[in-house]
Amino acid sequence: MQKKPFVTLSQVQEMARIYPTPFHLYDEKGIRENARRLYQAFAWNKGFKEYFAVKATPTPRLLQILKEEGCGVDCSSLTELMLSEACGFNGQEIMFSSNDTPAEDFQLAEKLHGTINLDDITHIEFLEKAIGHIPERICCRYNPGGMFTLGESEEGFQVMDNPGDAKYGMTRAQMTDAFRILQQKGAKEFGIHAFLASNTISNEYYPALARILFQTAVELKAETGAHITFINLSGGVGIPYRPEQPENNIAAIGEGVRKAYEKILVPAGMDDVALYTELGRYMLGPYGCLVTKAIHEKHTYKEYIGVDACAANLMRPAIYGAYHHITVLGKEDAPCDHLYDVTGSLCENCDKFAVDRMLPQINTGDYLVIHDTGAHGFSMGYNYNGKLRSAEILLREDGSAEMIRRAETPEDYFATLDITGIFNR
Ligand SMILES: *Cc1c(COP(=O)(O)O)cnc(C)c1O
Repeated sequence: MQKKPFVTLSQVQEMARIYPTPFHLYDEKGIRENARRLYQAFAWNKGFKEYFAVKATPTPRLLQILKEEGCGVDCSSLTELMLSEACGFNGQEIMFSSNDTPAEDFQLAEKLHGTINLDDITHIEFLEKAIGHIPERICCRYNPGGMFTLGESEEGFQVMDNPGDAKYGMTRAQMTDAFRILQQKGAKEFGIHAFLASNTISNEYYPALARILFQTAVELKAETGAHITFINLSGGVGIPYRPEQPENNIAAIGEGVRKAYEKILVPAGMDDVALYTELGRYMLGPYGCLVTKAIHEKHTYKEYIGVDACAANLMRPAIYGAYHHITVLGKEDAPCDHLYDVTGSLCENCDKFAVDRMLPQINTGDYLVIHDTGAHGFSMGYNYNGKLRSAEILLREDGSAEMIRRAETPEDYFATLDITGIFNR
């Protein structure tokens, strides 16, 4: 499949007159349409709700758009909770799925009446101490251990991950114990949650996870009599970063989950269980891109294009070797007959957005779109080498551009130091 940017050269030229590159750009239309497809796919489940994983893109304007489409938020830190509160989320719009949690984080989650998802059995006592009681509505995170695999899909992409090696969640036996202890301490409404594999390109991941969680819910109800009111499938539905990868079909995913629900939960008399998701990547990944300009070309042992963005704006290629597709704007249909490394300016050799990538000939001044940065893109940015975080721009449905986060300035970077004098020279 050809990967097409959601923005054109002339739109970027217009924007760059006001907002200098690099910047992250988001596609409001794409975000809304995708959120509606998700809700459509799970419309059969009364109470379905997507809790957007705030860590993926903690940008208020985007959280507001998702809120308008019916989404809540999934937080895992104090500041994510603060941001969500500021954006108007509260009560059952907030899921708090943290781990290794500080007491003050639990305190704020409780103050906002969010739903607390306990990562460990020892957190029961810790939470009780932190907030003075156990909430009536509570969730426990399950880790079935071992390897999680799905057979190879037709396209040859396999889903495999290693929950047994992951720090998250409770063992099966601990789940039963936790439910019993929580009941004794006053909990009345239970949920279960698990995250078994990340960035899955398979319509089978959610249904397979659902079967595991639904079966576990039936067992836990039989063992403890707990009233299970929701099951949280968490995140992990992926996006095709590479042009040759297939896209997930969310309608087929919803249908697969429905089949499991009818086969396992309904016969157990659990036909009122609400389903939740905590998708991050799937909600925003494809609807954001990093727009950057070629500012240098270098011809040594390889051909390099130097751009004005760097790994501080998008870390995934540098730390995971992750593939992000690149389009040279205005040359969408030109032949990819040049072999380049596309680099940022960090003093780190891993600061490359692409290695040995066939692209059209790139000239200084060309604008490049680095695709699929809408989730885990800007948010993973950092300040290494004193690099400043870029602005974030929203391409609105009417085609206009709105700055939704300004770029950092040197003053921001130095704000935690007492060296204000240097700005007065
Ligand atoms: C990161 C995370 C998510 C979102 O994951 P995606 O891969 O972006 O869908 C959801 N839930 C929890 C608890 C997470 O840590």
